[in-house]
Amino acid sequence: MKMTAQTSEWKKIALDVGIQNIISDDFAKKHAMIYQGQKNRPKAMAYFDQAALNTFKARGVEELIEHKKNGSKIVGTFCTFVPDEIIIAAGAIPIRLSAGTELSIADAEIILPREICPMIKSFAGLILAKSSPYFELVDFLVGETTCDGKKKVWELLQQYIPVHVMELPQKKVLTARNLWAREVFLLKEKMEIETGNKITAESLTRATQIVMAKRNALQRLANLRKSSLLPISGKDASLVYQVAFLDDIRRFTSKVEILCDELEKRIKESEGVVDSSAPRIMITGCPMVMPDWKLHHIIETSGAVVVCDDTCSGARCHIDPASASDWSADPSDVATQIKALADWYLNIPCPCFTPGYCEVLQATQMAKDHKVDGVIYYVLQFCHGFNIEYYKFEKHFNDLGIPIFKVQSDYSSEDTGQLQTRIAAFLEIIC
Ligand code: SF4
Ligand code: SF4
Repeated sequence: MKMTAQTSEWKKIALDVGIQNIISDDFAKKHAMIYQGQKNRPKAMAYFDQAALNTFKARGVEELIEHKKNGSKIVGTFCTFVPDEIIIAAGAIPIRLSAGTELSIADAEIILPREICPMIKSFAGLILAKSSPYFELVDFLVGETTCDGKKKVWELLQQYIPVHVMELPQKKVLTARNLWAREVFLLKEKMEIETGNKITAESLTRATQIVMAKRNALQRLANLRKSSLLPISGKDASLVYQVAFLDDIRRFTSKVEILCDELEKRIKESEGVVDSSAPRIMITGCPMVMPDWKLHHIIETSGAVVVCDDTCSGARCHIDPASASDWSADPSDVATQIKALADWYLNIPCPCFTPGYCEVLQATQMAKDHKVDGVIYYVLQFCHGFNIEYYKFEKHFNDLGIPIFKVQSDYSSEDTGQLQTRIAAFLEIIC
């Protein structure tokens, strides 16, 4: 293999460049097949295409290497509950490292059982095989006690990479709220020790404004997808959400605003990406991270269109951004701010909590707002929380008269043909 400046830089961070190149090529191949064939895409998607292609490869990683050289700490996270605000307030950079490639799963299965969800095996395999530059660059990971798979995997991964584990409660009662606020305080202390920077009310307010600007931009994008004339495909919108996990937050926010300006213009000029008679689908369930693009692609090549994503790789990342301004407005007291921040985070719907009703309520509201014709509920193989919770969703949406259908899958392409047939049959019921 020819040694480029980039590969020599990456060798310094102990990356297995050979495996990393195989994963990058797979990304590029899938991206070309799934994204480039779409007609009439918004011009502003060019930025997100490039950012996706750079995942594992270029600018994003080189930027992080520069930040590290300048003394910044990089923190890997895996769950919507981990507050980016605390990490940014300490002058560090959060990156979300959940993974969606099947190519690292065999490496994970050397130490993990086969019967756990592919997302966990995917990121664990990247760590074990040293095949992702991100894991070689992070100073430490922040894990959480959400599902059993993640709770236990941190214990194993501690041998390979430092992990700070936040204890997420399982209920949303008052004692649980106090416990979670304490955990957010502990993260603040951890960040202060790691960076040597004190988190003040002012730095936390600034960080909150940065994160809120991103949430507001994503909320704006979600609102534009309510239009009866859809200005962006579900695949493209999903790619934007996925890029959010890794991109520089300020640049990402400005690019989403530029995209939204273009989409608003398209709506005014009646320029849609699909026929307005195409069935409107909501996806809910497990998060989808790059390059897990299979489901959106199958739906949108079967004549329907995805108009909203009620997932942690979708709207669950920007629930109710306006309410965060209540606590970010008073920068006088960091302790009060952190308590309110922790409380705000506990509104995120997640099946790891019991009882879990707010997920169904949020999904219902979203389905109504986006005038959906049907709901596809996505379950990653061996994810018991989302799988069991489907019962509630099915009953609820059946009562509302909105057809719902569960898809259980993994990161391989083996079930593509079968899924195409099942989704086509579901769409026939809707039409
Ligand atoms: S579904 Fe739950 S555990 Fe998964 S990322 Fe979202 S909040 Fe975290
Ligand atoms: S998809 Fe389910 S099993 Fe996998 S990490 Fe998320 S909550 Fe855990």
